[in-house]
Amino acid sequence: MADARRFDIVIVGAGPAGLTAALYAGRNMEHAVLLESKAPGGQLLNTELIEDYPGVKSILGVDLAQVMMDQATGFGTELVSAEVEQILVHDDGLKTVRTSVGDIVAPAVILTAGGNPRKLEVPGEVELAGRGVSYCAVCDGAFFRDAELAVVGGGDAAVEEGIFLTRYASKVTIIHRREHFRAQGLLVDEARHNPKIEFLLDNVVDSIDGDDLVKSVSVRNVQTGEKGTVDVGGVFIFVGFLPNTGLVDVHIDHDEAGYYLTHPMTMMTSVPGIFAAGDVRSQLTRQISTAVGDATTATIAAAKWVEEWKRGRIEGDADLVEDVVEDRE
Ligand code: NAP
Repeated sequence: MADARRFDIVIVGAGPAGLTAALYAGRNMEHAVLLESKAPGGQLLNTELIEDYPGVKSILGVDLAQVMMDQATGFGTELVSAEVEQILVHDDGLKTVRTSVGDIVAPAVILTAGGNPRKLEVPGEVELAGRGVSYCAVCDGAFFRDAELAVVGGGDAAVEEGIFLTRYASKVTIIHRREHFRAQGLLVDEARHNPKIEFLLDNVVDSIDGDDLVKSVSVRNVQTGEKGTVDVGGVFIFVGFLPNTGLVDVHIDHDEAGYYLTHPMTMMTSVPGIFAAGDVRSQLTRQISTAVGDATTATIAAAKWVEEWKRGRIEGDADLVEDVVEDRE
């Protein structure tokens, strides 16, 4: 640990949650660092237009990322471009964050590393990735002008991105394994009214086919067993999200899908001094507004944790909650 840089708070990942944590840490004069290996913005960079972030009527994802980034670093939180490899938890409460540019040591870590799209895991998906198989409509949609496309999934992402893809495509077939959608009713209604969108419900994709480029998908009706082929030039897969929760070397309590469980009052995980916010946290929904809210709470609680830890007065979640409640009284 001799050569390690020392901070009070390390924020891991610069999506909306991480950028909010950096903003609050900087503004509150905490000694904090924000680590990110790619361009700051997280999922914002994969989203075309944002219309559901309060206070901003309509903004491009890439523009909101830039504003959040400027605001976050404007208050003094250092942004370091680094890949986090592992986080070690020590008996005295300190954590060592192992990164591609060296070790960083701090008592508090806020995990805001988001996640990655879940794979469909069918033949052809890996082989044709980047050759018609995509997980990002904003990134790849423009390559499919006048093409017929398939979108797989029935959540907000599938329906929203399916609608987005009709800007370019001549037809979008949304293939969903059930009759009912997980997506918000408003989005499903919008898709139903879009003349370029067709639905193939109760169907799963068995394989993605093509030699060099995607040519079709093989589908199967889960009710009748009937098999079919949908001819498409591209397949966009939106079947959920896998949280980046594998960095810490000790067990952190999580739900069955791997998302971290956090205390509702502090966003602290089951490991004292490790907080989680945004898409790595177990919650009903994963919106920009919820990520921002989680991160605000997590940062204020983390600062409090550090203060108490320095005085040797704190051990676990119960201590921190007790302290927060005492302060409010
Ligand atoms: P999601 O809500 O988990 O939906 C995943 C969809 O993929 C579900 O319809 C699921 O089907 C289907 N699916 C899962 N595994 C599958 C498989 N192996 N084969 C076929 N289908 C499969 O994921 P998401 O749409 O990526 O959204 C993630 C979070 O981001 C959600 O909380 C969502 O609300 C949020 N989000 C919000 C917005 C917005 O508000 N504008 C936009 C995008 C995302 P079942 O329904 O049958 O399980």
